[in-house]
Amino acid sequence: VKRIGVLTSGGDAPGMNAAIRAIARKVIFDGNEIYGIRNGYKGLAEGEIKQLSINDVSDTLSKGGTMLYTARYPEFKEKAGQEKAIAQLERFGIDSLIVIGGDGSYHGAEALSKAGFPTVGIPGTIDNDIPGTDFTIGFDTACNTALDAVDKLRDTATSHMRTFIVEVMGRDAGDIALWTGLGSGAEQIIVPEAEFDMDKIVSEIDTGRDRGKKHTIIILAEGVMRGAEFEEKLNARGDYHARVTVLGHVQRGGSPSARDRVLASVFGYTAVELLNQGKSGVCVGIQGKDIVYNELTDVLAGGSNHQSYMSLYDINKEISY
Ligand code: ATP
Repeated sequence: VKRIGVLTSGGDAPGMNAAIRAIARKVIFDGNEIYGIRNGYKGLAEGEIKQLSINDVSDTLSKGGTMLYTARYPEFKEKAGQEKAIAQLERFGIDSLIVIGGDGSYHGAEALSKAGFPTVGIPGTIDNDIPGTDFTIGFDTACNTALDAVDKLRDTATSHMRTFIVEVMGRDAGDIALWTGLGSGAEQIIVPEAEFDMDKIVSEIDTGRDRGKKHTIIILAEGVMRGAEFEEKLNARGDYHARVTVLGHVQRGGSPSARDRVLASVFGYTAVELLNQGKSGVCVGIQGKDIVYNELTDVLAGGSNHQSYMSLYDINKEISY
């Protein structure tokens, strides 16, 4: 009987529970044992480890957050932290590990693999900023949450003839902004991947007003600048009555969308299959319709080489103005 551990690390994302559930159910289906590690690498180093039963993951699929909790644990960057973790894994007789998280968490997974402990990664972050996969778990739900908020803001923006700046998450990636922007018909999308020109934005808002447009929605990716800073810059140009809404952590919560539930379930299942095949130091992903896996080292070497769908940006320029 093999013993497989699972943990969630870094920022939480809707769909993480669906992945944990799929992993637990698949491991038990295979006749092996599954161990849930609480609080990410911190809990791993401190031995917060408990075997999961089939029932432990019942009724979790549709819930946001992560039933295993998550934590930041900078000590894991050091050998000493990693050695503590490996000692705990040995103490519980765990032979391999699945890590669900973002690129920071992938660095930890890579360190464990390099130290000889079989580890597989699953991309779980709303930011969609991991190379080697078109989508990460939680991204779709986060976009749906942001869209719902923008729809509501548009109602009030129309009533007051206002310009709304909506700051969305995404770290250094513009994906949430791009999808939310195109999906809500936002007049402007500002992302780290493209230069923005305030002169052009101002003149486009003016053209819209002259045409009788009642509102302007600007979706701003947090990686560009804070909403308040953008507001100041815009209001300095004239009477735009700009207001900022920072969507913040609501984007990280909520019941996962159909897409995230399915993606998480397939990723969880695939991670277990990879471990069953003796793979280590890899992470799962989706490319087109294919479920793939990549070497963690290659994905991490990609660094900022995550490619956003900039065609969405170009399309939006021609259909939302
Ligand atoms: P998100 O993108 O959602 O924030 P993340 O996984 O990138 O997720 P981080 O806080 O960067 O979030 O990383 C999570 C944890 O992974 C860290 O608290 C730390 O324990 C571990 N970690 C991060 N970087 C490294 C590294 N270079 N080596 C080993 N472990 C690391």
